[in-house]
Amino acid sequence: MPTLKKTLLLFTLLSTLTFAKFNVVASYPYLGKIVQAIGGDNVHVKVLASPKRDPHFVIPKPSLIPAIARANLLVANGAGLEIGWLPPLLKSANNPKVRIGSQGFVDVSRAIHLIDVPKSVSRAMGDIHPEGNPHFDTDPHNVLPIAKLITKKLSAIDAAHKNLYAKNLQTFTQTWKHFLHTFDTGMKQCKGKKVIQYHELYNYLLRRYGIKSEANIEPLPGIAPSSKHTLELIQQMKKEHITTILQDRYHEKKTAKFIAEKTGAKVIILPHDVGSVSGTESLQSFYTTIEERLCH
Ligand SMILES: [Zn+2]
Repeated sequence: MPTLKKTLLLFTLLSTLTFAKFNVVASYPYLGKIVQAIGGDNVHVKVLASPKRDPHFVIPKPSLIPAIARANLLVANGAGLEIGWLPPLLKSANNPKVRIGSQGFVDVSRAIHLIDVPKSVSRAMGDIHPEGNPHFDTDPHNVLPIAKLITKKLSAIDAAHKNLYAKNLQTFTQTWKHFLHTFDTGMKQCKGKKVIQYHELYNYLLRRYGIKSEANIEPLPGIAPSSKHTLELIQQMKKEHITTILQDRYHEKKTAKFIAEKTGAKVIILPHDVGSVSGTESLQSFYTTIEERLCH
């Protein structure tokens, strides 16, 4: 049975290739892209969350467990974003190498100065992020500190390839600095713009470029819109001449549409991660899409 033999041989070869590589699991797509840029051909990256779904509520599907079970490194966003779904997966995968707090677990929020840290936390404030705003991925200036931390971790665990990782970081840094220069120029055009958001996904970006986030469609973080809040929002937008609504891919879009009809504002769908909307499959196109939709 030559065909079966060939298939088996191919399968063995593919398995060897996969297992010969350094296995990294990344919680979100943007992290997968950074890991791939630093690890190059030496790493095999598996991303857990879909960019088209709510990043707070990823379904911990059993099919995600094998990749975690054989991972050498797990890269997480941190700042509480995975709190509802990653711990059960880690428990089922039972891989001591990537357990929270172990050498093979990296929380990239450690490289970021978190904003919106609440002074006190209570349930009355909604399903708040108690450690601060975890949505720092929407600001491209946060990419390099994250890439450096990932390089440090990869080099510590896989010391045999640390020169390769250092070289890749150097190349990536050069490219990214060049990209940031272009990005900054584009973003400057919308300084002073006033917007409302559904959830505070873009605060890092908006603050950096002097765009004012005046209110949110959700009355409190994680709480669905109420008609009272929506009507107040319409009044506020009319009074303050706010004409832009930032809508993400995964929340309901009816409320934004209703507000737009009442105020004449424009609804802009922004990606919240690499691959959230079509044409954002790379890190650069993810950020360029945000800039183009927000500022042009
Ligand atoms: Zn959030």
